[in-house]
Amino acid sequence: MKVLDKTISQLTIPTPFAVGDTHVYLLKGDKLSLIDAGVKTKEGWEALKTQLNELGYAPNDIEQIILTHHHPDHIGLIEGFPRAQTMAAHRNAAPYLTRDEAFFAHYEQFFQQFFVACGVPGALMPSSGELRGTMHFAGKGQLTDMLDEGDTLPGHDDWHVIETKGHAQSHLSFFRKSDGAFIGGDHLLHHISPNPLMESPIGKETVRPKPMLQYRANLMKCRSLAIQTVYPGHGDIFSDVGDLIPLRLHKQEQRAEKVYAFLQEKAQTPFELCQQLFPKQYENQLNLTMSETIGQLDYLEDEGRVTETLKDGVYVCDAVK
Ligand SMILES: [Zn+2]
Repeated sequence: MKVLDKTISQLTIPTPFAVGDTHVYLLKGDKLSLIDAGVKTKEGWEALKTQLNELGYAPNDIEQIILTHHHPDHIGLIEGFPRAQTMAAHRNAAPYLTRDEAFFAHYEQFFQQFFVACGVPGALMPSSGELRGTMHFAGKGQLTDMLDEGDTLPGHDDWHVIETKGHAQSHLSFFRKSDGAFIGGDHLLHHISPNPLMESPIGKETVRPKPMLQYRANLMKCRSLAIQTVYPGHGDIFSDVGDLIPLRLHKQEQRAEKVYAFLQEKAQTPFELCQQLFPKQYENQLNLTMSETIGQLDYLEDEGRVTETLKDGVYVCDAVK
C-alpha cells in the first residue's frame, strides 16, 4: 500500500496469473472511489481489506467503483462493496459484468468462424465455454454510469476520461490535467507492453475491431497529453512517458518487420505465420499468440505492405513487394 498524494493511494493485490500483482487505486474527492478491483480470490480480498484498513477505511466506506477495463484481474472484487451505488466503466464492459449469455454466444461464434478463416486446425479450436471459464475470477455487477472520452469521473470532476482501446475494447484511462496524473490501467505499463487482444465486434459494430491500430493511435494520443505520472494497473509508477511511448511504437514496428520478412519468403495463412512466430507457445496460448499475429498483420495491411485474400474460405497473407 502506498499513499501517493492527498487524493490517491495505491493498493496492491496478488493474482494467480502470470502478470503478477495488480494495482487498485483509492481516489478521494466528492466521493470515495475505488479504481479497479483486483482479482476474485480469497487472498485478493484479504489483501484489499487489509490495505484499506491501513488507510483508515473499510469496504463499507467505498461509495463508487470505477473500472479501467473488463479483464478479470481488474474487476474481481466489485461485489464486496455494499454501499457503492455507482459503478462506472465503458459500455463495452457491461456484457462481461452481467454475464450476458447472448453476448458470450455471439463472441464464441465469431471466434469459431474467424479462426477457421485464419487457418486454425480443428484440433486447436477453442472449446465453447473457454471465455466463461476465464470469468471465474471476475466479479458480477451492473454498470450505472457509462463513461467515454471527454467525460469527467463522477464525484471527481478534475479527472477526465481518455478512451484507450487496444488492450481491451472497454479500456479507459483517467487523466488529471492540474498535475498530469494518469491512471492508465493496462494501456501504459513500464516493464511490459500490453497485448492488444482480439475481441469480437461489440454493441452496434459489425466488423471486428483492430486492436493494434487502436493501441498505436491511443499511444500517440497519450503522447500529446502532458502526462507527468502514470499510475498503472501493474508494475512501477513512472514518469518517463516521453521516452516510453516512442519505444513501444518502435518495438511494435520491429516485430512487424519480422512478420513482413516471413511473408516475403512465402504467402501464408495467419495461423501458419503464428506458428512461425511463436513455435513454442502457439499451442498452449493460441488466443494470445494469434492476437499478436493478427495485430501485426492489421498494422502491415494498414501500411499497405501486406494483402489478405480469401481463398476457399481461408485468408492468405502476402507481402507487397
Ligand atoms: Zn487487462
